[in-house]
Amino acid sequence: MTAAVNFVRLDGLSAEERRRCLARTESDLRPYLEKVAPIIDAVAAEGDEAVARFTRQFDKAPVAADDLAATPDDFVRARKSLKPDITEAIAFAAHNITKFHQRQKPEEMWLTEIAPGAFAGDRIGPIASVACYVPRGKGSFPSSVMMTCIPAKVAGVDKIAIVTPPGPDGSIDAATLVAAEAAGVSQVFKCGGAQAVAAVAYGTRTIPRCAKIVGPGSPWVVAAKRLVADRIDTGTPAGPSESIIFADETVDGRLAALDLLIEAEHGADSSAWLVTHVPAVAEAARAVLPELLKEMSLERAGFAEAVLKGPQGGILLCPDAESAIAFVNDYAPEHLQILSLDPKAWLASFKNAGEILLGEYTPSTLGNFVLGPNHVLPTGGWARTASPLSVFDFMKRTSIGHVTREGYDALARQARVIANYEGFDAHANAVSDLRTKFLRVK
Ligand code: NAD
Repeated sequence: MTAAVNFVRLDGLSAEERRRCLARTESDLRPYLEKVAPIIDAVAAEGDEAVARFTRQFDKAPVAADDLAATPDDFVRARKSLKPDITEAIAFAAHNITKFHQRQKPEEMWLTEIAPGAFAGDRIGPIASVACYVPRGKGSFPSSVMMTCIPAKVAGVDKIAIVTPPGPDGSIDAATLVAAEAAGVSQVFKCGGAQAVAAVAYGTRTIPRCAKIVGPGSPWVVAAKRLVADRIDTGTPAGPSESIIFADETVDGRLAALDLLIEAEHGADSSAWLVTHVPAVAEAARAVLPELLKEMSLERAGFAEAVLKGPQGGILLCPDAESAIAFVNDYAPEHLQILSLDPKAWLASFKNAGEILLGEYTPSTLGNFVLGPNHVLPTGGWARTASPLSVFDFMKRTSIGHVTREGYDALARQARVIANYEGFDAHANAVSDLRTKFLRVK
């Protein structure tokens, strides 16, 4: 490591310094908002023509307005071009992610007898359509295809569309197509950025208008989602990656350093902390980091170094376990890993985290790709109140009520009192003698 790792002692911090450790990278969307507004207007007015034009401009991809959808041949070519090990890993991950989300799926309807003859409950069903945004700019993300499309599929969403920028040759990333196939999705469109968000918000000749859009993306995508939020549900925002590794005295600090680098390598805007009350763990992690960074590409090591030199990452040495736990709960990380030989002993103490991974054998790598839980998680402290992407994001509840002749009188009497008190005449009349007059079954 060329720059020193940010090594912080919690007990020496002022309130302002502690606040800085809890902060995430702030991204100012204003410059992006200004630039994406005309893109959205053009797509709303011109449809496919504008989508193709912006794709040629921003992705440098030779795409025509009548060539935005992946064809069955594209899927065949993608399957043939991939090495068998990645195809196999995608199938393995898809199986586990499906199993996890199937277990999560609620029953379709429940009714309970609130009072004799009065029944109420919920009917829970899928939303009609969703667009899954799969980024392409800085890499290829078949894992994002699976994490967004599979819960939608399990929820029962009828129309699922993937939008993803094409490469410079105009083709869709092969692993994205193979992952789409594994998730059971065949509608994949060659467009990204603001033009893709606008296309699914307004609908074009080729790209269907969708009720909701999910998935991570660059600030261009985030800004565009904000501007179309009155036309399409844009879901819970998920920002740059962040993680906390909590380690106790039973583990090797070098393992903590190895896992600290996982989320730190996402980008310079990520956040990653090792939080421990064990000086030997903190020192061992600090000592090994330069060696571990040499095992990474220059680009990834550069991102990790930028994060770990602070202020939004590093090693935080706490005076005791209680203060370490309090810091983690204040922070509410997207990912929390408990490194301990007895991780379940710590589990109940941690209240706020998007995901909690337990023990030496559960690094985020497994959670992000193959274990089953969703890797689209609340960031920026939203884990205090929000939850990971799940089948619930693709379903909605409708309340159901059914009062029978037997149950009616007792409810009507009380409802009439409240209706009169609130001054609602029609409400009161509907449960008065007038009703009895009109009823077929008295
Ligand atoms: P992206 O597809 O989100 O953005 C690229 C698109 O931005 C381009 O297709 C283009 O249309 C648009 N664009 C680029 N320059 C533009 C300009 N000057 N004007 C207008 N539009 C422009 O891909 P990305 O850039 O790789 O960003 C993906 C983000 O998602 C990264 O921050 C990555 O870390 C994050 N990510 C998060 C997760 C997660 O699960 N949280 C997973 C994968 C990726």
